[in-house]
Amino acid sequence: MKTEEVKKLDEKYVIHTYKRAPLVLVKGKGTRVWDSEGKEYLDFVAGIAVNGLGHCHPKVVKAIQEQVVQLMHISNLYYIEPQVKLAKLLAENSFGDKSFFCNSGAEAVEAAIKLSRKYGKGERYEIICMEGSFHGRTLATLTATGQEKYRKGYAPLAPGFKIVPFNDLEKAKEAISSRTVAIMLEPVQGEGGINVAKDDYLKGIRKLCDKNDLLLILDEIQCGMGRTGKLFSYEHYGIEPDIMTLAKSLGGGFPIGCMIAKDKTASYFSPGDHASTFGGNPLACSATYAVIKTILEEKLIENAAQVGNYFIEKLKELKKKYSFIKNVRGKGLMIGMELEFEGKDIVTKCQEKKILINCTVDKVLRFLPPLIVTKDEVDRVITTLDKIFKSKK
Ligand SMILES: *Cc1c(COP(=O)(O)O)cnc(C)c1O
Repeated sequence: MKTEEVKKLDEKYVIHTYKRAPLVLVKGKGTRVWDSEGKEYLDFVAGIAVNGLGHCHPKVVKAIQEQVVQLMHISNLYYIEPQVKLAKLLAENSFGDKSFFCNSGAEAVEAAIKLSRKYGKGERYEIICMEGSFHGRTLATLTATGQEKYRKGYAPLAPGFKIVPFNDLEKAKEAISSRTVAIMLEPVQGEGGINVAKDDYLKGIRKLCDKNDLLLILDEIQCGMGRTGKLFSYEHYGIEPDIMTLAKSLGGGFPIGCMIAKDKTASYFSPGDHASTFGGNPLACSATYAVIKTILEEKLIENAAQVGNYFIEKLKELKKKYSFIKNVRGKGLMIGMELEFEGKDIVTKCQEKKILINCTVDKVLRFLPPLIVTKDEVDRVITTLDKIFKSKK
């Protein structure tokens, strides 16, 4: 179909919750995608940090193909082999002991909220969350989200959430009451504009949780799975959470979400307390198992760290050249460049030059390339940005 045709059908038949770029992408391979007119793009959005292995990674494709003819779905009424294999692999490679599987990020955060309330035994239920955070679009998760634009028009919101400034230990401490049961945050805020938790801050939050018997919930839905140069971002800080949520690149493009917890915390859920029809189905779990194995075997975490550092360095060089660049920040391949003006024009210009990037909180250009990205590909993005910025001067 022609781009115009797809646009028209979308306009007529799809509920208008998205503002879309005028592109119909029909094929992907590695770091590249192609539109319906056959034009090739270098993809530094990666489905908003979903296509961690790039598009259609052969090992993931193979795992899906093998499973799809065997068994796609079977209820959680029965034991599921690919699910236990995946849970074991996650436990072996993280702080956690046990996993609960669902289908999206918001559901993973919902599970974490519900488990926390169980932990609070009806007496404690309040969760302290951060300004600039993003935890999903369900009613509870958007209440936990510290950005007004996502909540507007949805009152009354879910009770039991307190929002405090990010990277401010004192404010978190002051917010604790006899009703508080958990603190939830993203080690690197994604939608909020790539804000990295300070080292002392996260260590301090961990201590605060220990002292007050609070659960530390880390939402690693965007910053997990090798993106920041460690398999999970908490590893940068020398601390461990009590609960972690994963989704986005967990399934490398196949929808899956997961909440991981230590045994002690997980034991607050009993059969019947929580469930998901599709959660942990054989197909999703087989795909995800292949994703994690590939990340580990192909040394993609190391690549994310190396190419990420190189990318940040190069962006900082651009910052020296152009005074309208206010800040460059990030970890590994989760990078933001804050401008003095709105970034959507730059995003469009990059697209014209066949490079896909994204912009969040209006003024922050966000770079989330697949973990397989090369320095040459980074160079191409830098050169293109340099040219675009030159014409802005
Ligand atoms: C994207 C995201 C979510 C929500 O995930 P969905 O799959 O869209 O529900 C939650 N938390 C963080 C940190 C995210 O980046």
